[in-house]
Amino acid sequence: AKESGRGNRQFYATSMDASALDVLHQERLLRDAIARNDFELHYQPQIHLADGTLQGLEALVRWRHPERGLVGPDEFITFSESRGLITPIGRWVMREACRQLKAWQDEGLAPVPVAVNLSALEFRQRDVAAEIASVLLETGLAPQYLEIELTESVLMHQTGQVLDTLNAIKALGVGISIDDFGTGYSSLAYLKRYPIDKLKIDRSFVADTPGNTDDVAIVTAIIQMGRSLQLQTVAEGVETQAQIDLLAGLGCDLIQGFVVAMPMGEESTRRWLLRNKT
Ligand code: C2E
Ligand code: CA
Ligand code: CA
Ligand code: CA
Repeated sequence: AKESGRGNRQFYATSMDASALDVLHQERLLRDAIARNDFELHYQPQIHLADGTLQGLEALVRWRHPERGLVGPDEFITFSESRGLITPIGRWVMREACRQLKAWQDEGLAPVPVAVNLSALEFRQRDVAAEIASVLLETGLAPQYLEIELTESVLMHQTGQVLDTLNAIKALGVGISIDDFGTGYSSLAYLKRYPIDKLKIDRSFVADTPGNTDDVAIVTAIIQMGRSLQLQTVAEGVETQAQIDLLAGLGCDLIQGFVVAMPMGEESTRRWLLRNKT
């Protein structure tokens, strides 16, 4: 479902031929969706490469669009940000992910963390640490079962405030991952300055392995650096057994991708968890 509308990017404000009317129309639909929580979370498992056991679930938001069906985040997160509408969506995602995980845990499923994505803008605009604390309290989810995923662009702004916020999140007992690692501009110095647990190797580096030797070199280097710095490494977008074999040989800790499972809706995830219960 995440592909729905992939070819319709010009529908949105980011394109030159999107008319002002379209933008207004989409904005109205989005405001309605926010008022009704017309979103859903899909979940994608992350597994340990060594033994195939579940390590965690990443929550990925979708919009139940009245005209276009289920719309993926690439189609509306940036738009939401440009219309000043990302904060309520992000808050809903955080609360819903924690609520759902707690519900599964109460059923004896998913004794693993859920990972929530936060864009750089969200990270700047919201008091993320305070919000996490209050959502954990409200949902009853234990802090070690929440992770947040940030892109390097968050860390580019080397302000004391970023450090304070990350330390506050860490102090709560919540995990911090760097998403799309290797695609940002920031210096690697942040890896020692900030309390990071995990590096998620961007899908673009994984996609053409093992065939592309440059990509193999990059993935190898990231995994080795992760090990040296005692950060867990996660390969994203793993689609083939050949990639699994390569990553296992390199000592990558975790994998996520279609070869394990696609992102799944709530009910499919629940069935997946039941089937994979250990
Ligand atoms: P991401 O965090 O890098 O998430 C992984 C994306 O890769 C997901 O796309 C997922 O469906 C896709 N993917 C997973 N495995 C494979 C694979 O094996 N092959 C391929 N080709 N793709 C795979 P999705 O769900 O469309 O999400 C796109 C992006 O939207 C995410 O990239 C994330 O940056 C952002 N996003 C998702 N949910 C949220 C959210 O709640 N808040 C914010 N701020 N951003 C979100
Ligand atoms: Ca992510
Ligand atoms: Ca990613
Ligand atoms: Ca990405």
